[in-house]
Amino acid sequence: MERAEVLEEDKWNVEALYPDLKSWQSDLEKSCRPHKQPHWPELIAFKGKLGRGAKTLKDFFEISFKTDRIISKLFTYAHMRHDEDLANEDYKKAFNVISTIYYEFAQELSWAEPEILALPDSTIQNYLKDPVLADYKFHLERIVRQKPHTLTSEQEELLALAGKALSTAPSSFSAFNNADLKFPPIKDSKGAAQELTHAKYLIYLRSKDRELRKNAFQTLHRSFSSFENTIAELFKGHMEHHVFSKRARKYSSCLEASLFPNQIDTKVYTNLVASVRKGLPILHRYVSLRKKALKVDDLHLYDLYVPLVESVDLKYDYKTAEKMVIESVAPLGEEYQKVLHNGLQHDRWVDRYENKRKRSGAYSTGSYDSMPYILMNFQGGFHDLMTLAHEAGHSMHSFLSHKHQPYQYSNYPIFLAEVASTFNEELMFHYLMKQNLKPEEKAFLINQKIEDIRATFFRQTMFAEFELTVHNLAENNIPLTPGLLKETYRKLNIDFFGPDITIDQEIDIEWGRIPHFYSNFYVYQYATGISAAHALFEKVMQEGEPARKAYLNFLSSGSSHYPLDLLQRAGVNMQSEHPIEATLKHFDRLLQELSTLI
Ligand SMILES: [Zn+2]
Repeated sequence: MERAEVLEEDKWNVEALYPDLKSWQSDLEKSCRPHKQPHWPELIAFKGKLGRGAKTLKDFFEISFKTDRIISKLFTYAHMRHDEDLANEDYKKAFNVISTIYYEFAQELSWAEPEILALPDSTIQNYLKDPVLADYKFHLERIVRQKPHTLTSEQEELLALAGKALSTAPSSFSAFNNADLKFPPIKDSKGAAQELTHAKYLIYLRSKDRELRKNAFQTLHRSFSSFENTIAELFKGHMEHHVFSKRARKYSSCLEASLFPNQIDTKVYTNLVASVRKGLPILHRYVSLRKKALKVDDLHLYDLYVPLVESVDLKYDYKTAEKMVIESVAPLGEEYQKVLHNGLQHDRWVDRYENKRKRSGAYSTGSYDSMPYILMNFQGGFHDLMTLAHEAGHSMHSFLSHKHQPYQYSNYPIFLAEVASTFNEELMFHYLMKQNLKPEEKAFLINQKIEDIRATFFRQTMFAEFELTVHNLAENNIPLTPGLLKETYRKLNIDFFGPDITIDQEIDIEWGRIPHFYSNFYVYQYATGISAAHALFEKVMQEGEPARKAYLNFLSSGSSHYPLDLLQRAGVNMQSEHPIEATLKHFDRLLQELSTLI
């Protein structure tokens, strides 16, 4: 369908933000002076004055957050319209204009934090105690926290100047990986040639055609191997950037430098790695179950993704899926369920189906001044049902945080981003397992769940351990040669997958194709996120009312405290081994059930 042909009830209610592009345009003119520089003279007016008193600082915070809030509303409308039809010139233009404005907003404010950090300690202490600044106390604390790792203003300026040049490694890797690198075609078991791309690789790995899986796996990794020196240099360059920043800013390690701003203790990271290591025999059991179920003499790494249960065809139309998602959240209480019910069935949070040139995939979005929105490309498979449950989890988290927090604390931090969505996937899984299912449907669901945990928890922790090991090597000036990187990665694969699998030589280069290794200590958050969600889910299901209230409080608290404190208040201590061990036990239970069923 063309966008214009889509029924109103199937589209998100973006008109609730702005009735049309003209009113968006006039708000933009009024609030951002798009053709004048500076865009916001009222912000620059505070430059050099932030030390004058608590009232001045409060006025400055108020006006900068007010501006941020308007830009965020304008941005949300433009990016949603743009995603409805990626070729629409008017919306593309609006999206580019507001993206530039957002960037320039950050530029026009870039003087502020250094100015605050340069204030005398006594001034800062007085500000923190002053009731005038009560609404911004935590915001100010977060800024001030950076002080021991902030350099003189001249040094900071120099670092900022070097920023672009220092980001060459990730941008080169991205250009290589997304644009320059091409894979040769591969053959399936019938001898027919198949095109190999990044997107198709994952489809092939899940294929029942073992020859196709094997050829995809070998060809993809051999293509990367033929550039291993270049890839290793890019990777090393990126590690050296981290080591440079760590030394310049006087952190004790690259890990600490990355986790410090959000007050995440490095113990959270090292605990995760150590606890998962202890639990590896559980993953090994899954590998040997796979070997038996697939009836192969030799299990290879390219046999890890193919579903173990003959495909069970679970189909849902959108209305049914919606109803199931609403029913599945009953354990969170009537109020929660009512809000979600209204959002999905009356307020049109969701853009349901594909149309021509609409953005692919799914996400949850929105702004402080809008309802939460969900973009989907609903096709009716099991995966789509889970996606709707997942995105509804994000949307309810946003809804509650927006409702209960002032603007400055309304967005939840990345460390917590996947907790609510994973929690709702658990709710859906729980709901489905209580239905009247045939044994093969049950086995199919459990296998899906096991694969989720394997990919999000075990695999990402293996990545996290690799990331930590190579940073340690770089910090100790040990040269990251292709040989050392491959050897380190191979050892991890041997440890993680255990004795019942052949560790194919091609895997040694896999680290060289993972884009997330160019984000600084990012992947561990997948594993901590799923563990926190599991722990909270168990608490709510077992302890009932008090745990449910604590969880809803957590969903309502945005970024009003550091992420670990927010989880602690909901009853989960991410510095302890408990949530990680609980996830391992959960995986073990699922494994036993699957084993019995198949
Ligand atoms: Zn998500």
